[in-house]
Amino acid sequence: MVLPEAYIVQKFYQYAGQPKYNRLAKTYQGGCPVCREGKSWGKKRRLFYVVKDNFLHCHNCGWHSNPMNWIIEVSNMSVSDIYKEADEYDLIPQDISSKEDINELAKKSTSNSLPDDSINLFDKSQTDYFKANPIVQTALNYIKTRKLDQAFNKPKALYISLKDFTHKNRLIIPFYDVSNKIIFYQSRTIIENRKVNLPKYLSKINSDKSLFNINKVNEELDYIFITEGPIDAFFIENGVAVAGINENSETMFTAVQNQQIQKFPFTERIIALDSQWQDKASHNKTKILLEKGFKVFVWPKKFGEKFKDFNDMCIGLNIEKVPTNFLVQNSYKGLEGLVKLNLLGIS
Ligand SMILES: [Zn+2]
Repeated sequence: MVLPEAYIVQKFYQYAGQPKYNRLAKTYQGGCPVCREGKSWGKKRRLFYVVKDNFLHCHNCGWHSNPMNWIIEVSNMSVSDIYKEADEYDLIPQDISSKEDINELAKKSTSNSLPDDSINLFDKSQTDYFKANPIVQTALNYIKTRKLDQAFNKPKALYISLKDFTHKNRLIIPFYDVSNKIIFYQSRTIIENRKVNLPKYLSKINSDKSLFNINKVNEELDYIFITEGPIDAFFIENGVAVAGINENSETMFTAVQNQQIQKFPFTERIIALDSQWQDKASHNKTKILLEKGFKVFVWPKKFGEKFKDFNDMCIGLNIEKVPTNFLVQNSYKGLEGLVKLNLLGIS
């Protein structure tokens, strides 16, 4: 399989410094993330992606290879993950917004903590302004069918950008810190792909992940529930999300997340993943987390076979919140959890 050029370009814009396109030479140029341009990061663009000949070359450090090897080098993703991501890659529609729209919005844009010209999808005056825009409508429909606007623990705002190179036409989920400042975000595709069940997220570039919804944690409650994806945390009281758990990593949290969670030392942590009955990765992660001594929610068969995650469950049962008791009563530590998990028969 050949990686689509659009996918490679998106990765280039994600990882290279101040990327730009040279129309004459038909090359992309940017700061080299491998050598960081020596001490010239942000000043020089000595990395070239030559589309015609399918290679990348850095004139500073001499790094030279094909796009696949470059993406492996800068993203730490595996070959199979890259193929998978490229396969699920959003078909980014043609620019559908007029220049006037963009200019109008640029005036309204207040914060560079978000992608370019983000529109607040929970702000009626902004969505009214874009009511004829098909992408905004798709996003609003997505929010409605997934019950994101009714969720018990939803964030203050959800955004969409029609312009940002990496994140455009995707649902942008803001991560606030405890002082309600947006310090991180993830974007999610709003194009439903029947082939693929897993949600596909992109993170803010060059930025440490923080804990989603940490600003909404109530320390009076007994538990904090830690989910992988932010959307699941929408539906759980005291639900926070780590934005992906790497089962091979010794630490579950990034440095920023660790600092944030340390502020709640008296609240017990329960990790709540997708249904172990449907997702092999979730099953494996649960096993590893139990072995490491974490308390983990194990989906009861009845629900786990029917629903793949908490969002799915809330849609199916038409509820705005997963009952806290349901989570607590099905959470285990150590051997007890491992026994429950083995009963699933898919280890
Ligand atoms: Zn270099």
